[in-house]
Amino acid sequence: MQQLLRDLRRIDGLIVEEDRPLAPLTTMKVGGKAGCLLKPTSLSALEGLLNYLGGRQIPYKVLGNGSNLIVSDKGIGVVVCLSKLKKIYTISKRGLYVEAGCTLSGLLSWCVKNGYSGIEPLAGIPGSLGGALFMNAGANGVSIGDFVESLCVTTGDGSQWININKGFFSYRKSSIPSGGLISAARFRLASSSRKANAMDSGAAVMRSVHPSYILNNIKETMKKRVSSQPLGRPSAGCVFRNPSSRISAWSLIASCGLQGTRIRDAQVSEKHANFIVNLGKASSHDILSLIGLVKKRVWEETGVYLREEVVVWNNEKQNL
Ligand SMILES: Cc1cc2nc3c(=O)[nH]c(=O)nc-3n(C[C@H](O)[C@H](O)[C@H](O)COP(=O)(O)OP(=O)(O)OC[C@H]3O[C@@H](n4cnc5c(N)ncnc54)[C@H](O)[C@@H]3O)c2cc1C
Repeated sequence: MQQLLRDLRRIDGLIVEEDRPLAPLTTMKVGGKAGCLLKPTSLSALEGLLNYLGGRQIPYKVLGNGSNLIVSDKGIGVVVCLSKLKKIYTISKRGLYVEAGCTLSGLLSWCVKNGYSGIEPLAGIPGSLGGALFMNAGANGVSIGDFVESLCVTTGDGSQWININKGFFSYRKSSIPSGGLISAARFRLASSSRKANAMDSGAAVMRSVHPSYILNNIKETMKKRVSSQPLGRPSAGCVFRNPSSRISAWSLIASCGLQGTRIRDAQVSEKHANFIVNLGKASSHDILSLIGLVKKRVWEETGVYLREEVVVWNNEKQNL
């Protein structure tokens, strides 16, 4: 590990943090430490880092804003975090460049300031752009992938822009090439004279409007969230994927009478059945045990096998 840290500290523009607790970097507030947490401050630092890790076949995990993650209590060896890559700028009147470490709320603030409407239904999703694109985060019938024209994918061999085709994004899923990490995206912009939410290809577009219209939409979206989600407690959002477009995970869990069920400080939310909340001192093990209990009960009582939407980092600490 010491040799690895020495080598990493030689990469220009890379912040290296040793033995960094990961729980504070996730919204569920559970999990152990990262042996080293690596924060590139530029795209070239990220490319240098992935080249180094790839060349030595050192496994690593990518951390966004930690809002869809359950990290093992045992921790993780190497974690790459893109929180320092958060530039946003227009490329032309029809394109917006956004780096993956930018938060969705940061992107929404840009939209308000510059008067572009489209992604307000995603307000309140506490993710980074990279994590949101990886998960194809969505709410209220809108998904982030709908608005993306192309993605910059970085590997140990460098960065490459890929155009988004139909089918690249699906329900809470993207088709990022394996071994690749999303470093930036390009969004479609249009002036108000173009038709709302529709471009020639049928894909969605951010449309130029008055900022007050956007602010109003955000307020409405947030009102719905506050009334239906347990936002005062640590969580990772919806734990399970909806089994189909007609059957929601929350209704199955609620119908089994599981709301309020606890394992130590992990609890199935009383407010939203598909949320598990951390009442204070839950461990990753408690959360995962409760996930297992919910799956078992729903399977036994309804015959439906729930699958996790949250990502679980269950690796034991590697010897580096
Ligand atoms: C209160 C609350 C409400 C939520 N509401 C919603 C909702 O309405 N809709 C919804 O879809 N989700 C929702 N979520 C879940 C979560 O916010 C989203 O999935 C979010 O997009 C995850 O982004 P992140 O940056 O936090 O990713 P992380 O949790 O950090 O990571 C998630 C996954 O993405 C990968 N990843 C992260 N960054 C990159 C990258 N740059 N390149 C490649 N892979 C990457 C990680 O390795 C991991 O596998 C909610 C969560 C909370 C806590």
